[in-house]
Amino acid sequence: MRNSNRLIVDMSDNKSIIVKVVVPRRVWETYDYNVPRGIAKPPVGARVSVPLGHGRAVGIVVEYVERSDFELKDIERIIDEKPLVSEEVVELGMWLSDYYHHPLGSVFETMLPNAAIRGQPAKIEPEKQWTLVEQANPATIRANAKRQQQAWQTIREHKMVRESDLKSLDITRSALDALERKRIVKKTDVALSQVITPSSIAPTVEQKLAINAIKSDLGKFQTFLLDGVTGSGKTEVYLQVIDEAIRQGKQALVLVPEIALTPQMTNRFHERFSRMAVMHSMISNAKRFETWCQAARGDMPIIVGTRSAVFTPFKHLGVIVVDEEHDASYKQSESLRYSARDVAVMRASKLGIPCVLGSATPSMESVMNARSSRYRYLQLSHRPGAAQLPTFHVQDMRHTQVNGGICEPLLRTIRKHLNRDGQVLILINRRGHSTYYICTDCGWTANCSDCDVRLTLHEVPTRLLQCHSCGRRYQPVTKCPDCGKKSIATLGVGTQQVEETLAETFPDVPRHRIDRDSVRTNRQLTAMFTRLQYAKEGLLIGTQMLAKGHHFPNVTMVAVIAADNGFLSTDFRGPERTAQLIVQVAGRAGRAEKRGEVWIQSYDPDNPDLRSLVRDGYGGFTETELRLRQEANFPPFGQMAVIRAEGPDERVAEEFCAEVLNALRQCDVKVYGPMWAPITRVARQYRFQGMVLASKRSQLHDALKTVERMRPKSRKTRWSIDVDPSEMA
Ligand code: ADP
Ligand code: ZN
Ligand code: ZN
Repeated sequence: MRNSNRLIVDMSDNKSIIVKVVVPRRVWETYDYNVPRGIAKPPVGARVSVPLGHGRAVGIVVEYVERSDFELKDIERIIDEKPLVSEEVVELGMWLSDYYHHPLGSVFETMLPNAAIRGQPAKIEPEKQWTLVEQANPATIRANAKRQQQAWQTIREHKMVRESDLKSLDITRSALDALERKRIVKKTDVALSQVITPSSIAPTVEQKLAINAIKSDLGKFQTFLLDGVTGSGKTEVYLQVIDEAIRQGKQALVLVPEIALTPQMTNRFHERFSRMAVMHSMISNAKRFETWCQAARGDMPIIVGTRSAVFTPFKHLGVIVVDEEHDASYKQSESLRYSARDVAVMRASKLGIPCVLGSATPSMESVMNARSSRYRYLQLSHRPGAAQLPTFHVQDMRHTQVNGGICEPLLRTIRKHLNRDGQVLILINRRGHSTYYICTDCGWTANCSDCDVRLTLHEVPTRLLQCHSCGRRYQPVTKCPDCGKKSIATLGVGTQQVEETLAETFPDVPRHRIDRDSVRTNRQLTAMFTRLQYAKEGLLIGTQMLAKGHHFPNVTMVAVIAADNGFLSTDFRGPERTAQLIVQVAGRAGRAEKRGEVWIQSYDPDNPDLRSLVRDGYGGFTETELRLRQEANFPPFGQMAVIRAEGPDERVAEEFCAEVLNALRQCDVKVYGPMWAPITRVARQYRFQGMVLASKRSQLHDALKTVERMRPKSRKTRWSIDVDPSEMA
């Protein structure tokens, strides 16, 4: 590691070796241990089993030191003879702990697969293969050496056998060793068997520019922002760049925001590359660890994965791609609150390789980085072939008749598209039927008893009220519990109500509702998207789940039911997220030969963000939004962190939040708060937060460093630091 005095231990002077070990638990420090004399010293990056407290733990060796101030215990066992993770990954862990102000042990807990933490054996050495030596003399194999005879025959037949095939071919190691000694076979590392099918697509001029720019930077650090409208052929650019990296003997990492998007991406990759692996939370622990080790030993050329795949160790990583780089799911919202996109850029810089960030709606951060030339900007401004971008229409809802969330002119337009055999996609970012359950007489509203949240009425599959924060369910009352009158009503529309309205108007048209209620698991989501590929007609109604990178070639119209919530959100990222959602969902319209139409219902049609988005597209929105951010010194101009504290006692939680913020006020940063979190109470925990703003990154980190290890007096109070927050909730 850098800045460490690595020690060459002089074994003659009777000293043993001391190592620093990080254990994957919520601890800030590494622990020092003795490596007893006489046992091989574990390399940096290898796992060791160590005594800890009254038990033991699996840890990773991160450093050698000359002396220690502690009374040292001995390492119990060395698990890996060779490093499980490279020094690069160990250093990445240190950096993450520093940057996100998060305990080092917990960082490694996040980075390592479960199987690794449990100490399962890892296959880190490259796989071996055995081939025949030319001009070998098989006569030297004794006739009664049956095993050797058989092994030699098999290798002659197959030309080559791999380590992983030995068992099924019934070949023993000792037979191979004997043959090797006789110079009949030779043992080598397995050559990567990647079969590349060349692209059948002729790149457009813009694609060619992008491909060449990235290719010519393979081998050095450079971040590229590939800004390309939906369907403009970004994936084709990734494929051709990775093709080149693999031809140079390097590996590639491709990040996608959602598990449900991995099949789509892997299918495209499989058409071109014979060998690749996926990595996400639905893959079994054992399989994950196996893939992880394959990547580490250079035996897996391509990994496509979600957020945590960014921690995969690689032997020769050559390029990282982050698709849909703007997507909020790259940010982990608990424990280590890392951004996989930012970690990807960090890794690329340490490794000296290019990182490609692709999006149709780049984040404000990436746009700014491109403007300041930290990132190289590459643009794909149109779709190849005939596909055209859709037209936009903002429907002023202020004096319009609305029925079940949808106004009359919108219903007419939907009908027009359905009559022309188009599919219509309807985006409504709330699940359930109604978002308010109220008494019209006295103003009572149904709230969750454990949270400060209004209950949502669900009609499907059964009628009940649900808290969307803690999940608790309630029977809907028919009489007001406050005034006793039967004047109960509902307000605010969700997906179920929109579906109901459309069912009444278009009873014969097939409908598909996609939200967290109709699709509960990632497996169901993947299955649903597969089904939708074949559903060529009807209505698709759903939440933002529908907006993510899927191709619906028959969709000719997209309707956004309630865009205002996002544009008027108290969260400073609300408008950005909403604009991205609208543009992404609009990208689903008219992907093929049919031109699409996008309708946005708004009670605030003069909103500057909405207006610039509709008039000048996402680029126009970006201008408006960046100007507003700059005025407030919000990211990407100022550097931000959010401090959150919560606990069962309102006063204690608030006081602790104040304590942290007051300590921060001693530093060179601007501090706001404590204030209530947007949802003030969830599952009986009172929630407070504060905001920290700095002009320079170093100021922010110096300040956070002073508070990162503060501890609330009550163990029931929990708190966190969120650097570069992706939401204020
Ligand atoms: P994106 O990743 O930007 O959404 P894709 O790479 O998925 O776009 O491309 C969208 C569609 O256009 C795909 O079906 C792809 O095969 C096709 N395509 C991409 N580049 C070209 C090209 N140069 N010529 C013709 N078709 C292309
Ligand atoms: Zn009432
Ligand atoms: Zn609740």
